[in-house]
Amino acid sequence: MTPDACCRPEEIYAIEDLEKNRSYGRKALEQEMGGLSEKADVVIIGGGIIGVSTAYYLAKKGARNVILLERSMLGSGATGKCAGGIRTQFSTEINLQFSILSRRVFDGFKDEFGVDPEFRTIGYLFVGCAREQMEVLEHTANMVRLAGVEMELLSPDEISRRWPALMVEDLIGGSYTPGDGYAGPNEVLQGFARGARRLGVKIREGEEAAAIRLAGDRVEAVETSAAQRIWTPTVVNAAGPYAARVAGMAGLELPVRPLRRQVFFTAPLEGLAPRLPMVIDLEYGWYARGEGGGFLLAGPQDRESSFNEGTDFEGKEWAAARAVHRIPIMEQGSIARGWAGLYEISPDHHAIIGAFPELKGFICANGFSGHGFQHSPAAGMVVAEIILEGRPRSLDISPLRPERFRQGDLVREPLTALKD
Ligand SMILES: Cc1cc2nc3c(=O)[nH]c(=O)nc-3n(C[C@H](O)[C@H](O)[C@H](O)COP(=O)(O)OP(=O)(O)OC[C@H]3O[C@@H](n4cnc5c(N)ncnc54)[C@H](O)[C@@H]3O)c2cc1C
Repeated sequence: MTPDACCRPEEIYAIEDLEKNRSYGRKALEQEMGGLSEKADVVIIGGGIIGVSTAYYLAKKGARNVILLERSMLGSGATGKCAGGIRTQFSTEINLQFSILSRRVFDGFKDEFGVDPEFRTIGYLFVGCAREQMEVLEHTANMVRLAGVEMELLSPDEISRRWPALMVEDLIGGSYTPGDGYAGPNEVLQGFARGARRLGVKIREGEEAAAIRLAGDRVEAVETSAAQRIWTPTVVNAAGPYAARVAGMAGLELPVRPLRRQVFFTAPLEGLAPRLPMVIDLEYGWYARGEGGGFLLAGPQDRESSFNEGTDFEGKEWAAARAVHRIPIMEQGSIARGWAGLYEISPDHHAIIGAFPELKGFICANGFSGHGFQHSPAAGMVVAEIILEGRPRSLDISPLRPERFRQGDLVREPLTALKD
């Protein structure tokens, strides 16, 4: 669909047209829905970072009638629990390209959105204890350097020299990208949402997508918890950890599962907190970075899928043990608080973007597997291009197509803080 075509009334599924394909007429339909129906060019399901970014880029590229449905509050899902990490150290070309494109947006965010994303350039340090981990880091260094990104491979001695607070005895080495860092998920979310609203997107909080209606091999409407039927040719699934449920409403099997990750914060370390980059321990799937004079510490990630978002004592113990092991000064710290959120995990730890061949108009933007915040600008951009221009122009996202799993064509990303 071109931007112009998107807004032409004859391209939109009008109630009159739909009646032709129905066994019941408009009156019955409107009675069934309490008379409430409307039309949209695109309905986005989910008001996390992926939904608001998509909304913004759709509107920026000319879509005029876009509705975003968020069943709770914007950012109440995984986005609100996110650690804000932004990195270029990814081992696959597609993830690297997502990072590079997204970083351009983060760098110009304040100018474009009028909101400071609070980007802190603290660097990212991956550390490894096994030869295979170092091989991944070496491969990654070769790839990201070709793209012009500064990345160093470091020996344990060099790591210790630069950051004496780190225990390095069990390490084989590490890799460091000084330009990486973290930003504020809420600030970025509000920037996108504000930009989208300014360009006319209707963002409706407290309204859930309850059902998706199909007409043959097309999407035709979304029904909401407010007894509203929204006729639309295009639905974007931006439901994060709930993506498989939303895909199920359209009769699709989407391999995205929710996995709880706990996160804890130490109390300030009273002038003792060493200056450290974001440290990711590949051996344990653990990470930490400075936060308000203390530290943000990763807790464990569950092995079993669930929608449980509670923290527990074992999680706190796990985080503290990993912290004291890698940063011994942590012995003097105490955990002040914590929370848990849900990763939206795909089988190969890469996003799933695009439509399934068997259903037109249902666009997935899911499965970011722990890096959806940092890739949200590029994700929103390519989803908007798919919808308005018929194909993604900014990046070749064919490795992320939804049908790759049944084709057995996976793109594995080992460079994560996830433990399988
Ligand atoms: C502890 C933790 C730390 C993380 N750290 C990082 C990090 O450092 N860097 C990084 O890049 N990523 C990180 N992530 C991952 C990142 O948070 C996610 O990839 C990203 O937020 C996903 O955004 P989303 O919009 O897809 O999902 P969400 O933010 O979960 O948004 C989905 C929204 O859809 C809504 N919804 C669901 N079903 C419906 C429905 N039927 N109708 C209407 N609305 C619906 C939900 O209420 C929710 O608000 C972390 C995740 C966790 C849990």
